Amino acid sequence: MSLEIRISQVQDRLRQACAAAGRETTDVELLPVSKRQPESLIREAMAWGFKRFGENYVQEAASKAPALPEADFVLIGPLQSNKAKLALQTFVEIQSVDRLDLAQRLDRIAQELGVVRPAWVQVDLWGEATKLGGCAGPQLPELVGFLSKSNHLPLQGFMAIPPPGNMAAFQELAGLRADWRQRLGRDLRLSMGMSGDLEAAVAAGSDQIRVGTAIFGSRKEPGKAGLR
Ligand SMILES: *Cc1c(COP(=O)(O)O)cnc(C)c1O
Repeated sequence: MSLEIRISQVQDRLRQACAAAGRETTDVELLPVSKRQPESLIREAMAWGFKRFGENYVQEAASKAPALPEADFVLIGPLQSNKAKLALQTFVEIQSVDRLDLAQRLDRIAQELGVVRPAWVQVDLWGEATKLGGCAGPQLPELVGFLSKSNHLPLQGFMAIPPPGNMAAFQELAGLRADWRQRLGRDLRLSMGMSGDLEAAVAAGSDQIRVGTAIFGSRKEPGKAGLR
């Protein structure tokens, strides 16, 4: 199936999900996830109007970026502290900020580099953190508090990867966002929903869905890509 067809299928799903939820399609960002996909496909997606792409691995995105100067990469994968500087140089936005020491380090290096990188707190309310990253409940207030005051990593909202099939998770995240909106007295966004569950995420109030396979097809095996 061509990229064009897959894109239009996903856009149809998004339109229908928004209509069902009484929301405007333009209120939900469709972020294509291009991890372990070739530059040629990213270029093709850019011809269909996309500019921002989610990537999981710092090294992989850093090696793709020079060939795609017009693309903006968003980090959605776990970030090791020793890659903080490269991440700030490679990505326009960092969605996987999940611990205070990482946030502090990113903040300090962003200041040194003189860059501003919108940041999202990745949350884990379901004990999946060892696999996927994510800040667990008790550590959340400190991390959110820190980012809410940072000038170099302005807080955008919350990103999460709920366990597949756990539809109540999207409601929990919506509740978390509502709490923090009230506590901070400002708007915060939610990045949740992927190829398999974007409808439920949109129904629960997601502002951004991150879609990989439904747009780009299946990915290369992690080992074989050799890019991690
Ligand atoms: C890979 C990935 C996605 C996209 O997943 P698909 O199921 O391929 O749509 C979204 N978010 C994160 C954090 C990912 O790692």
